[in-house]
Amino acid sequence: INKGLKALVYAKKSDNLYIAGKVASDTSQDHNRFILENDLRKVIERNELSLVYQPQYDMNRNEMIGMEALIRWKHAEKGFISPVDFIPLAEENGSIIAIGNWVLLTVCNQINEWKAKGFLVPTVAVNISPVQLQNENFVQSLLDIFTLTGCEPTSISLEITESMTLDIEKTMSLFKQLNDININISVDDFGTGYSSLYYLDQLPIDQVKIDKSFIQNKSKQAIVKSIVEMANNLQIEVIAEGVETSEQVQFLQEINCTYAQGYYFSKPISDVEKLLRLK
Ligand code: C2E
Ligand code: MG
Ligand code: MG
Ligand code: MG
Repeated sequence: INKGLKALVYAKKSDNLYIAGKVASDTSQDHNRFILENDLRKVIERNELSLVYQPQYDMNRNEMIGMEALIRWKHAEKGFISPVDFIPLAEENGSIIAIGNWVLLTVCNQINEWKAKGFLVPTVAVNISPVQLQNENFVQSLLDIFTLTGCEPTSISLEITESMTLDIEKTMSLFKQLNDININISVDDFGTGYSSLYYLDQLPIDQVKIDKSFIQNKSKQAIVKSIVEMANNLQIEVIAEGVETSEQVQFLQEINCTYAQGYYFSKPISDVEKLLRLK
């Protein structure tokens, strides 16, 4: 049985309709997609996922103030596959729910382990897919994970992209629930969506992360400056993503942007303990 057939068989078992629509156009890209979507359903039992962490810095105090957990998938045959490529597939076939819970659980266990070793652990930011947020069990699974691990909700923050904030009513009620259980909310890739300005003063948002496309493009400096000013006025924390050069650091400091994350400071790493301070 060749690989292609195997992928079809597997997919057909679990997803008749989807496969039926796709068989007609079996390009090699579609083919690869079948395999990946199918393999995604087994990544957890196969132990192929891991997390790396990227530090976030306070540029004034020269101090790490947080870190972002970023998922990595090491596929048995294909090696590392970027989350940019597999998260959309996981969203499409629903496996993002299990994967997202795995990320939350792993982060909570990791925080506990670091604390047990006596480290001071800054807030860990976790990326949450809009598909997870739209799942009616999201808040309950969060609560379950906190109960199960004993990890404090205040130890983590949730990075949510703007795309989900289109339905303002639903978003409002969800964000209020999250705020009530003391989880900080950060708007990821800020500036790339449509609704940025509209909801900023309406939702209980703790932080915005200016998208790296703005930070890395000099012609966007005026926009970056406006976002920082606005966030500062609204008392929302603002963090610059994708900071790679000392020039960018200098500009951000000039415009009173205090927090930053990017290769200039550190790439995402797996050995975080060397950056943590003991209590
Ligand atoms: P994001 O949440 O905006 O994460 C920032 C991405 O920018 C990361 O890519 C990070 O490695 C990269 N980055 C950080 N500093 C720099 C820099 O100075 N220059 C450049 N060019 N890039 C930088 P990564 O790890 O490949 O993740 C890509 C995206 O995948 C994330 O974007 C996020 O949307 C998604 N993702 C990652 N982990 C998870 C996860 O656990 N759950 C979900 N739902 N999505 C995730
Ligand atoms: Mg993020
Ligand atoms: Mg709050
Ligand atoms: Mg981002």
